[in-house]
Amino acid sequence: MNCPTCSQPDVIEIEHVLPDGTQVYFFACHNCEEKWWNRDGEDIDISQVLEIVRQHRA
Ligand SMILES: [Zn+2]
Repeated sequence: MNCPTCSQPDVIEIEHVLPDGTQVYFFACHNCEEKWWNRDGEDIDISQVLEIVRQHRA
């Protein structure tokens, strides 16, 4: 996995399971500090992740 912003391979990957069972991955680049999320191979915005968490916290 290379960073889409700086193209460096210095990227960490962390798996998360959201409250509704959705499996997502959090990526962070040590080189340029870019951060992003991925679900089922597609990039998703952090706001979408937070929305799922919010909907299942009630
Ligand atoms: Zn980067």
